[in-house]
Amino acid sequence: MGGKALAIPRKIAPRVPELMDLAFGPISGKPVMAYYYVTYKCNARCVFCNIPDGPMDVLPVSQYTPTQTSIEHFDILKELGVRLIDFTGGEPLLRKDIATLLRAAKERGFRTQMTTNCTLYPRRAEELRGLVDILNFSLCSPGPEPHNSLRQDNSYDYVIQSLDLARKLGEHYQIIFVLTDDNADLLPGMIELCRQKQCILKVQPEWEYFGNDGVAVQHLDKARAVAREKNVYVNWAELRVFQQGGNRIENRACRASNAVIAISPDGYILYPCYHKIAQRIKFDRNIITFFETERWREMQDKAGKFKFCQDCSNLCYIHPSFYYKVDKNFVLSGLSDLRYTMERRRIEKERARSVAAERETSVIAGEPAG
Ligand code: SF4
Ligand code: SF4
Repeated sequence: MGGKALAIPRKIAPRVPELMDLAFGPISGKPVMAYYYVTYKCNARCVFCNIPDGPMDVLPVSQYTPTQTSIEHFDILKELGVRLIDFTGGEPLLRKDIATLLRAAKERGFRTQMTTNCTLYPRRAEELRGLVDILNFSLCSPGPEPHNSLRQDNSYDYVIQSLDLARKLGEHYQIIFVLTDDNADLLPGMIELCRQKQCILKVQPEWEYFGNDGVAVQHLDKARAVAREKNVYVNWAELRVFQQGGNRIENRACRASNAVIAISPDGYILYPCYHKIAQRIKFDRNIITFFETERWREMQDKAGKFKFCQDCSNLCYIHPSFYYKVDKNFVLSGLSDLRYTMERRRIEKERARSVAAERETSVIAGEPAG
């Protein structure tokens, strides 16, 4: 889940820290969130993703950080003030030690986030139980098509199976839906599916980055139209940045390296971001003092202002950046995220009640509890 537009969901996403998390970064002037790349490998071949062709930062697997070193990285992240670790890739579930890493992060008090294409989730769900605070399942359509065609596999059934399994296990799951020209009309069906599966639909506009065109601006109105509906999360500030044509280097929306840092599978900070790597900086204990230097402050100041940053709409970095400057995006994003938090809580309560009721009915009927 690490490449082009739909990698977005993974990287995206995501990307919805709790409001409290977001408040801490700007106060301390340090990144509140880390994209921790556990692998660049993926078992899917999504047409909108660069990972199958070779990611931005190609590495042999033999150079990947061993488990213990990753755990030491988490200790460093803790000292840096990071609060949320997004375990990303590639497909994170291809890492055999992913549960160990997630557990180590949880033990250190981080909130954890992970996005998966779901092909391996049913097999590993028990092992991951309780370890992920935001579990993102990527889905491109309410039915098998165009999801399977876009992903060039048969993962639709795995996504549905994963939703049911995560619900039964009491996990905190949501669907990431990348809004494209091909699926913008499928939004009502996606909302219906999320209501059935008792989760949030996070609508993420497809950005132009890897040779794809990005979603046409007129489709953003379809996202805006459903933004207040139940089970839907649309970030109004994200739509605004899209409509303005992306990041502007003279007045940056993106504060990568300020709000969020990306760490490669071999343990380097990817500066300013995974998508445009100007520099790789070894991530070890020296980074704690380096982050206090004028040099790092200058680098933070440059992020989002490089020539290549003009028109960039990479929401993985732009969304957390909204909280680092008080302006209209700050307010719009704050309102959207507050709404998201409340809606998520509502759904989780509703889900817990209905799962408990189903269990009770099964017991009365003498069926094995799920
Ligand atoms: S599942 Fe794999 S190929 Fe598809 S978007 Fe994610 S990283 Fe890319
Ligand atoms: S604006 Fe620049 S730093 Fe930010 S995500 Fe885009 S390329 Fe990376």
